[in-house]
Amino acid sequence: MRLSGRLAVVTLVAALAACARPARIDRVVLLGFDGAAPNLVEPLVAEGRLPALRRLMTSGAYGPLKSYEPNKSGILWTSIATGKTMLKHGIVDWTYVNQQGITVPYEDRGRRVKTYWEILSERGVATGTLNWWISYPPAPLPNGYVVSNAFKRSEQADSVHPPGLFALLNPLRVPFPAGVADEMKRQGIPDYREEDATVPMNAARQILKSYPYYLSQDVTIDRASDYLFANRPVQVFSTYFRLPDVTSHFATHFLDKQLYDETVAKEAAGTLKAEDVARLDRDFARVVAPAYAFMDRTVAKYLDRLDGKTLLIVCSDHGFRYFHGRYNHANPDMSPPDGVLFMAGPGIRRGVRVEGAGLYDIAPTILFGIGQPAAEDMDGAPLLRAFDPGYLEANPMRHVASYEGGERRKSDASGSHREIDEKVLQDLKTLGYIAGDDDKPKAP
Ligand SMILES: [Zn+2]
Repeated sequence: MRLSGRLAVVTLVAALAACARPARIDRVVLLGFDGAAPNLVEPLVAEGRLPALRRLMTSGAYGPLKSYEPNKSGILWTSIATGKTMLKHGIVDWTYVNQQGITVPYEDRGRRVKTYWEILSERGVATGTLNWWISYPPAPLPNGYVVSNAFKRSEQADSVHPPGLFALLNPLRVPFPAGVADEMKRQGIPDYREEDATVPMNAARQILKSYPYYLSQDVTIDRASDYLFANRPVQVFSTYFRLPDVTSHFATHFLDKQLYDETVAKEAAGTLKAEDVARLDRDFARVVAPAYAFMDRTVAKYLDRLDGKTLLIVCSDHGFRYFHGRYNHANPDMSPPDGVLFMAGPGIRRGVRVEGAGLYDIAPTILFGIGQPAAEDMDGAPLLRAFDPGYLEANPMRHVASYEGGERRKSDASGSHREIDEKVLQDLKTLGYIAGDDDKPKAP
């Protein structure tokens, strides 16, 4: 009796101490999934097909994330990283015409303002960032590493910073094409074949042909992320995947034929209702479910790695919505479809829906979460409504006017990036983002 009584007292004291200690965030992990959409996540969660995302929803805050025009992922992910509009950050399209009159992709050096990991790294916070759009050539950060988005498709040591990481990460690559069939099986990704298409294919044919290559890239990044998360611990860790986006770009062609035809007919007659679109969304979710399951398994791994002091953010840059016969996000005639935002960790409210968040709020929220002032020249603000009142009382928000004083550190790598430029341009043509010779078959 006495022993169990003492045990109860000890347990009670420990519990009280835990309550009295204000929650603190020591680490932020951001997982980015291009094109993940609330209208597809929600039906899949309801069907029990995304258990990790369901856990995130019930243990944290969830809501739609407002996206912006022009709805191009390179611009949008730069806004997520900087908290700023494209007019401020300077990445205004996929490509530009350089002084020699050649169309080249934007690169890291074209960005005019700092990302949250650059701001934090300068302030002594260790950061690690993988696969972010337009992060090549990687900036030479004082406290941290960058695996640029060129790493996944180019065996160049200068695709990562510091370059010494390259020899460690390069062997983790999924060999292409040798290893891809096995990897698709392991990931439960079906063999989407043009002959099985229910809706005739056009531009999406190129994406379908390159799909195994895109999958191998994401698995490579997943492996590199696992390795660095375990072996190079940092306070702010960010990694990016694109499978939901790429899959959604061709999934219209695998919708239920009858349902698709009815929807198109109703849209033409002007009688399309919200419930018709919701029904088509559920069928679209069925087609893209394997890519969302990939996302869910990745989230599950990081959920299991959390230590009670980590703020986990999962977000996308835009969603996908049915419009004029297909699921899209970049049609200039439609408003940009919302992305998703999940937050969980110490101080985050449990099971709440957060409304009105936008891409520009992510960087200020990360700064606030890791205990640094938000910047007044950012176009978003920390998402305080996702935090418990007690947390906000113990951790009041601070501000600085700007972090942009002084030049940002940029790679001074000279020489040609022609090989990487060509691969990026090829990729953008495949996705139909820039004009290309679409009829010619090409190797990825
Ligand atoms: Zn995107």
